Amino acid sequence: MSQDLLNKIRGLQEQAQSLEPDPIERQQVRDQVIDYTEHFLDNLAESRAWNDSVNKGRGVYEAPITEGPAPIEELLTLLEDEVNEPHLNAASGGHLAYIPSGGIYFASLADYVASIINKYASMFYTAPGAVRMENMLINWFSELVGYPEGAAGNLTSGGSIANLTAIIAARDAHQLKPADYKNTVIYASPQMHHCLNRAIHVAGLSEVILRDLPLDDGHRIIASEVERIVKNDSDNGLKPWLMIASAGTTDVGAVDPLEALGRIAKEHRMWYHVDGAYGGLFTLVDELRDRFKGIELSDSVVMDPHKGLFIPYGTGVVIVKKAENLVRPFDHSGNYMQDAYDLQEELSPSDISLELTKPFRALRLWLPLKIAGLAPFRASLEEKLLLTRYFHEEIQKIEGFEAGPEPDLSIATFRYIDCEDPDQFNRQLVDLIRKDGRVFLSSTLLDGQYVIRFACLSFRTHLSQVDLLLQLIKEKIAILK
Ligand SMILES: *Cc1c(COP(=O)(O)O)cnc(C)c1O
Repeated sequence: MSQDLLNKIRGLQEQAQSLEPDPIERQQVRDQVIDYTEHFLDNLAESRAWNDSVNKGRGVYEAPITEGPAPIEELLTLLEDEVNEPHLNAASGGHLAYIPSGGIYFASLADYVASIINKYASMFYTAPGAVRMENMLINWFSELVGYPEGAAGNLTSGGSIANLTAIIAARDAHQLKPADYKNTVIYASPQMHHCLNRAIHVAGLSEVILRDLPLDDGHRIIASEVERIVKNDSDNGLKPWLMIASAGTTDVGAVDPLEALGRIAKEHRMWYHVDGAYGGLFTLVDELRDRFKGIELSDSVVMDPHKGLFIPYGTGVVIVKKAENLVRPFDHSGNYMQDAYDLQEELSPSDISLELTKPFRALRLWLPLKIAGLAPFRASLEEKLLLTRYFHEEIQKIEGFEAGPEPDLSIATFRYIDCEDPDQFNRQLVDLIRKDGRVFLSSTLLDGQYVIRFACLSFRTHLSQVDLLLQLIKEKIAILK
């Protein structure tokens, strides 16, 4: 029996051998993968930002998982045709829709290394260097927004989880109990990102009163009115709990009056949260310092390096000014974790996060920031800001166009109005530009009206793409008229 068992074990080891390719096999696969990505990068400047597709990736289903292996060539072809080709090319500098990102090359190398060494980056005990690297980055972000020492934070998968984390910290810091919810108030802009509505729901806070605050012509919260609204609630026995401001709304890139809202929040002992998922990293641009003044008054802040630092998707940041407020909600552990705490010198990500096991995210941020230095990131962000001002000016020179307010950051809105049904006309214009594919735009509704958004945040977007867009717009208008 025991000989049988040993034979069986050896047989299984043999069968599983291909999970550990030898150096020659590794090189063969690696060369093909690198050829594929090099080809992609070399052709990116001529590639479309959008490719219409009939099949929409259905071929993925036609290649089911089987017991046997498949050749890498075949798999890369399938990846190209069914996955990479259809629809949005988010790596393209022509991606001017939603909030673009790009995905810088150095981060991909960091991901490659991180996947191979596979450090267990969640705990100081298992990966002290990886944890210190994450904490070092958190400290850097924290200084960037002007927090004093003593903050704590987390690299998350993105802004949604980062915002949820902050809402949970705010709830527990104020020891909100279900019995309080009906008398408790959240103050926010109707332009607040929908992930915060979701976070409020997921945190069990749907019954809390959500006050939509009035906005000015630039879609920013009007602070003087907030003062009055909060006071009124207070006088009526309600409990102001949470003030949410946006450091760059998704729709139009509006930065709320961060300092004035912060003052009101402090005066009424509220938790002050700033969602800077889109715009927070524009603090790196000197010229914008004043616009972000007051962000340091917040109790928690969110930023998305997969937007403002052009890191590939999958990296957000949440920072809470007082570490204890981030420790409190996540202070739970299991017996199987007992070894970890004897050797802990610093907070581990897993102590202050919804996640236990997580990828080594710090490396995909650290390597690009170190290898390139900060200066090119600042330059690229400032370039985006100026490109947006340029576009905002130029679009108004084309007859028939109306532009939205002067952009605070790198989003401009516009619509064609010299026609009978502007909503319908602008929808057709966006469709035609998408079908062309060289540039990709998205739209939104503002005050019930269809408007087109120009959202500039890919590090690959330069003057040439913006000029191409202006030319495309003129061409398509001529067709539609
Ligand atoms: C993108 C965005 C979010 C959501 O972040 P994800 O990384 O997409 O989860 C939240 N708030 C704002 C302002 C955003 O632009």
